[in-house]
Amino acid sequence: MNPVIYVPKGAAFEYSPLAANLYRGCSHGCRYCYAPSILRMKRDAFAEGVKPRAGVLEQLAKDTKRLAARGEKGPVLLCFTSDPYQPAEREHGVTREAIRILHDWGLGVRVLTKNPAYAVGIDMDVLVEANVEFGVSLSWTDDASRREWEPDAGTVPERAKALAAAKLADLRTWVSIEPVIDPAQALDVLDLGTVDVFKVGKLNHDREREARVDWRKFLADVLAKLEGRDCGYYIKHDLWQFADKRMRETFPRERSPESVGLSGGEGV
Ligand code: SF4
Repeated sequence: MNPVIYVPKGAAFEYSPLAANLYRGCSHGCRYCYAPSILRMKRDAFAEGVKPRAGVLEQLAKDTKRLAARGEKGPVLLCFTSDPYQPAEREHGVTREAIRILHDWGLGVRVLTKNPAYAVGIDMDVLVEANVEFGVSLSWTDDASRREWEPDAGTVPERAKALAAAKLADLRTWVSIEPVIDPAQALDVLDLGTVDVFKVGKLNHDREREARVDWRKFLADVLAKLEGRDCGYYIKHDLWQFADKRMRETFPRERSPESVGLSGGEGV
């Protein structure tokens, strides 16, 4: 088997210097998902035939030992082409085991999920033990919109509640606001008060919808909203390219939570 831990290419690298995909397929059914095309799978097969990649934990352990031996600290993001806490995890527990392996060998772990209620419900012990950077993908405040676009993922209230639980457990929390399909709702997500870092992107791979949004205004609104807030943020390159001279002179593209007085380690 090829290495499971890899260096993400292009925009994905903005999420993490290393990543691992544990499952083949994902049952969350997001309408905008482009993982099936990356994996050259039919959408139906991608959604219905979910299973752990063959030999994934054995290979992950080998990769982890090799990286640890050369002093690599990660973090490793779980996952890009599947959700680490989709329902199949209940049966297989590979995410849980992967976190343990990475942590045992001294590599940081960064999770990104649309089903965080499940994560904090069954894995809080291992998330806390490994001091996981707990990321939730959320671009909606209206659950009807979420249902339309991400029909089988966690609900908006579930995601917000899980973030609060993770924060209460002293985990570093982050939210990925991407893809931005409804800019007004994406802006409202910034009002969640239990988040250490917001990562804000835009919409890609949908030229028609992208063309209808004034991305410069969206970015200006995002920065204005974040300006007085006590959280960190990171504006993704594809959105930052819309920054005008005033924005570039006034705002950093990235702000750490530590710089605004929040505790936490290296990260997101
Ligand atoms: S959670 Fe991610 S991998 Fe799963 S369907 Fe949605 S976009 Fe695709």
